[in-house]
Amino acid sequence: MIALRPILPFAALVLLLSLSSFHSIAPATPDWGFFAHKRINRLAVLTLPPQMMVFFKPNIDYISDHAVDPDMRRYASKHEGPRHFIDLDNYGPPFDNLPRQRVDAMQYFTEIWVVKNTGDTVQLFGRQMPVAADIQPDYKKYFNTQVLPRLYEEVETLDPDSLAAFLNRHGMATDFQAAFFRDQMALHGVLPWHLQRMQRDLTEAFRRRDAKRILRLCADMGHYIGDAHVPLHTTSNYNGQKTGQHGIHGFWESRIPELFADESYDYFVGKPAYVERSTDWFWDMVFASNTMVDSVLTIERALRITFPPDRQSCPDMRLGRAVLAPCRDFSAAYSDALNNMVERRMRAAIHAVSSSWYTAWVDAGQPDMSRMDIPLPTEEERKEQEELQKTFNGGKIIGRAEEH
Ligand SMILES: [Zn+2]
Repeated sequence: MIALRPILPFAALVLLLSLSSFHSIAPATPDWGFFAHKRINRLAVLTLPPQMMVFFKPNIDYISDHAVDPDMRRYASKHEGPRHFIDLDNYGPPFDNLPRQRVDAMQYFTEIWVVKNTGDTVQLFGRQMPVAADIQPDYKKYFNTQVLPRLYEEVETLDPDSLAAFLNRHGMATDFQAAFFRDQMALHGVLPWHLQRMQRDLTEAFRRRDAKRILRLCADMGHYIGDAHVPLHTTSNYNGQKTGQHGIHGFWESRIPELFADESYDYFVGKPAYVERSTDWFWDMVFASNTMVDSVLTIERALRITFPPDRQSCPDMRLGRAVLAPCRDFSAAYSDALNNMVERRMRAAIHAVSSSWYTAWVDAGQPDMSRMDIPLPTEEERKEQEELQKTFNGGKIIGRAEEH
């Protein structure tokens, strides 16, 4: 929920930007707009069974404080940004062709190109040029052995001999002097696939009883699941920029929870549930969010027309600066018209976060969480965290900026 697609801190910013003349505002500190992420992680801890609580409760501040690390990493790594969203409108509906499994998606989104002896560059395979069904199994083998390792190493050239051998096997021989691939998976976001990877890594961390890693991954997982519950994290119109509603991202996911979450939201979400099929579950999450995009946009647009214009933006103070933000009454009217959607998604996010942690723990064989040793951060880890904070404060997102 509340989450921010790209970055939350910016969500708030975005809000302001939409109100004109605030473009010079400096990047926010982590506590601006990070409210909901931290709240979700904290409340998720409180739903856990006693066998887990014994470890999580003493570390609740860590899990809450670090709920925003993934957004901060967006300033340090180009790989981070796409993990926070998926622009589903690029793929459907229907979404039948969209690979649900991460490994299938990596293949689906990778384009194979050759440079012919004539100098022409020609694409052989990719999302727009699918591999024929009968050679799919062999292509998968080729992909897994030849392309995947290079993809991880970010080497984009391919071994010409093995590609030629594959093409020869299937009567597709062609003359070429070089071959390379392009990974297009990140283009429209990777959120549901990234959740699969996180769930696997978290399960492994529980299995090894690696306390430090469990905490770190639980905090991260809470963030990404939070993002998956925000409708605007599932559309390319993530900040209303395509419909003249610039700023709606921060309005929905930052302004509303900041105003109303503490005073009126019901956070009782019950015990975590064990999730049998987490891949489907992650997809259900983003599809559910996506069905709400239309309401998020149309209801705000209608309200902008009917609500008195001079009562829509109000002066507010943020970090010692005067800014304009959606007025309290206007925000309440939007929230009511959405039938408390923000609260509903925040509750769903809390339950999903604790269910993800709980499922990882069960799948790891329910390791004993008492007497877990948490080593102090190493010098290197301390520096890394400082660096993260510094890059964040310095402020430039790599990749799609702000507002998601
Ligand atoms: Zn995020």
